[in-house]
Amino acid sequence: MQIGFHGATQEVGRAAILVEEGKHRVLLDYGVKINEETHLPLPVQGFVDGIIATHAHLDHVGAIPMLYKLTEIPCWMTPPTLPTMELLVKDSIKVQHLKGLEAIFSASHLKRLIRSVIPVEYKKKARVGEFEFEFRDAGHILGAASVEMQSKKHSLVYTGDIKLEPTRLHDGADIGFKEADVLITESTYGGSEHPHRKEIEKQFVDACNEVLGRDGNVLVPAFAVGRAQELVTILHAHKFSYPVYMDGMAKQAAEIMFDFPKYVRDFNEMYSALKAATWAEDEIDRRAALSGPSVIVSPAGNLQGGHSVRYLMKLREKRESAVFFSGYQPAESPGRELLETKRLKYEGYDLDYKKHRIEHFDFSAHASASELHKIVKKVNPKVVCVVHGEPKPAKALGDWITENTGAYVKVPKFGDKIDVEKHM
Ligand SMILES: [Zn+2]
Ligand SMILES: [Zn+2]
Repeated sequence: MQIGFHGATQEVGRAAILVEEGKHRVLLDYGVKINEETHLPLPVQGFVDGIIATHAHLDHVGAIPMLYKLTEIPCWMTPPTLPTMELLVKDSIKVQHLKGLEAIFSASHLKRLIRSVIPVEYKKKARVGEFEFEFRDAGHILGAASVEMQSKKHSLVYTGDIKLEPTRLHDGADIGFKEADVLITESTYGGSEHPHRKEIEKQFVDACNEVLGRDGNVLVPAFAVGRAQELVTILHAHKFSYPVYMDGMAKQAAEIMFDFPKYVRDFNEMYSALKAATWAEDEIDRRAALSGPSVIVSPAGNLQGGHSVRYLMKLREKRESAVFFSGYQPAESPGRELLETKRLKYEGYDLDYKKHRIEHFDFSAHASASELHKIVKKVNPKVVCVVHGEPKPAKALGDWITENTGAYVKVPKFGDKIDVEKHM
């Protein structure tokens, strides 16, 4: 078995792994990395039997339509991943267009991909070429999956993006993996721990109350799928008394979640929270949101466009206001910049937010280091490939595995390839 790393090598973004055995080739995820520009994964030369997509985030599926320019190949994903992917990929086409960037694929390629999708539920066996595989609930976002795969010679587990601790929306990941020869693991937080969800929920709600008590607004730039709905649910569960607004794509993502109740941990809790929030539809609603104390939950989660940036511009003079981030801010993203410098460069402006309260609440949807260690122990692999983490956390996880297990550890560089047989 050979494994090629076409992306997500010592970086968070553009997950793309090519698994080959004999004549058969399968692609696990094929995503993009977006900062000022769109970074593509390494191209795939020649034929692939199929694609397995773990979840709908663009860093896992954003480049898949590129593969549908000439061919139609099967693409497996869980049922909720399909509409969620469609929503996010269509939006990425729009954003590229707005930024004046050259399109990496067209709407017709996306259409061809959608026609080629084979939905597979968690824990149902599927087959691609010589490989048999099944998805397990990864606890990360709606429909997110890990992949457990078996060829004639070797077995492999790919975590995808994985979260072990339960959240308001999802149970923790199902890590009932069988032992496998190879583990390919994410390492977003490969060297650090998260606070407990309950604690961070309380800190977040208290901080919102504090800012709103001073007549400020709290802008929560949040990822459209999952995080936005989770935060609204948290506020509702804590009997939050101020108005809560939800804007942008978080609304469409919520509609998709309504279609897949069994993929949500406590559907009724989420449903009543989302119904109680005000869904900002137009400029009148947006003005109303800013006219008094309120919490505004809006994509993009790292301020890469979307309504969150527009709210942020309007909050510049309201110094009693706050920006509370809730998710991973990738290197070079505007979110990371604002968080670290309290300044934001936007459309030629250099904006100062020194007087505002700018904070990050660690509501991560990724496993902590000790949880990743647990997965390594469970899978007990001979070969571990550490992907989807910036250099420091990736190295930290790799070092821990080398020190604590007998496994061969690879923290690949862009374009690296390994032959599993050589390390068995
Ligand atoms: Zn993800
Ligand atoms: Zn990811």
